[in-house]
Amino acid sequence: MISPVMPTYARAPLSFVEGEGPWLKTDSGETYLDMGAGIAVSALGHAHPRLVAALEGQARRLWHTSNLYQIPNQEDLARLLVDHTFADTVFFTNSGTEAMECAVKMARKYFSAKGQPERYRMVTFSGSFHGRTLGMISAAGSEKLVKGFGPMLEGFDHVPFGDHEALKAAIGPETAAIIIEPVLGEGGIKPVPKQCMQGLRDLCDEHGLLLICDEIQCGMGRTGKLFAHEWSGITPDIMAVAKGIGGGFPLGACLATEEAASGMTAGTHGTTYGGNPLACAVGAEVMRVMLEDGFLDRVRQISGRMRQGLEGLVASHPDVFESVRGEGLMLGLVCKAPNADVINAGYAEHLLTVPAAENVIRILPPLNLTDAEVDEALHRLDRAATRVEAGA
Ligand SMILES: *Cc1c(COP(=O)(O)O)cnc(C)c1O
Repeated sequence: MISPVMPTYARAPLSFVEGEGPWLKTDSGETYLDMGAGIAVSALGHAHPRLVAALEGQARRLWHTSNLYQIPNQEDLARLLVDHTFADTVFFTNSGTEAMECAVKMARKYFSAKGQPERYRMVTFSGSFHGRTLGMISAAGSEKLVKGFGPMLEGFDHVPFGDHEALKAAIGPETAAIIIEPVLGEGGIKPVPKQCMQGLRDLCDEHGLLLICDEIQCGMGRTGKLFAHEWSGITPDIMAVAKGIGGGFPLGACLATEEAASGMTAGTHGTTYGGNPLACAVGAEVMRVMLEDGFLDRVRQISGRMRQGLEGLVASHPDVFESVRGEGLMLGLVCKAPNADVINAGYAEHLLTVPAAENVIRILPPLNLTDAEVDEALHRLDRAATRVEAGA
């Protein structure tokens, strides 16, 4: 008999009911160390006092009015994002995939409004992930995502990750944009090299294309910069953000330059919930915490400690781990043993990590870990690897 909750996930038999910082407590009172942060969402850990206060304060005043009216919290958060990024303007959504939908619609509208409606195609990369709407599974195009859900939305040209020749060949008179995750998340924690980000920017400029960055996973301080593209010194025209932006409250955003957003006039796009007062109260507080002096420096510092520790584990468990990759606190341990075995051994050590493609386990902790918590995570991972070696 089908479960009341639709069985689209193979869930671990763990039920968490409380959290504090990087710690989670199960319904039977056991404590786990969370190195997944709900897939890079709980960027400030669980129940951060400032986020709780922002949410509670707003909950007592007003929950929802709709985008028929001005929403002061939305304006506040949009201003914070605009002041600290390349962007001039922001559309708020409830999720990452909706932020990407907005990005793709905006790019199509841009060319259509300029009298070039034939320019609607977008180049995307194998191994990328942009969410689960029909549009975004069409964009990513992997067999695993699209199987049985056809026909797909037309207009995406998929090229192998890192194949420069295929990329150039895919650009034609109908191309509107290139879509890239600066660090592939689901695809296995693969940073796009800085010079390749620059190369993508140059290609876009040369052909008059828009560059769309999907920073849903790698953005919001995750890599040690507010946004991952900043490492390469280039800026996109459009950027999708979600996950960490709400610190656990559902929120996404599509940021753009004034030029890229020039087709998005009143009535062209909308959402009932997107950017609602509760979500934006929390989102603005997340931004304020991350913008404080030293926050991103500290992320880089912790990530150095974490990375060094992980390199040590690769050296001491060569049959379990192969290598470490990633940027900041978006780290991937490429496994030799099946990644599911390592993750399950982690559960036995009360440690949470997240799988990704290419037999990787993701280390995506809250960004405000202490050194002691980093060391504790490394100890647990060490013991988990020993379990895997013992075949337990
Ligand atoms: C998680 C993710 C998405 C989808 O976000 P949802 O909130 O699940 O819709 C899109 N792109 C990337 C890179 C992601 O990591």
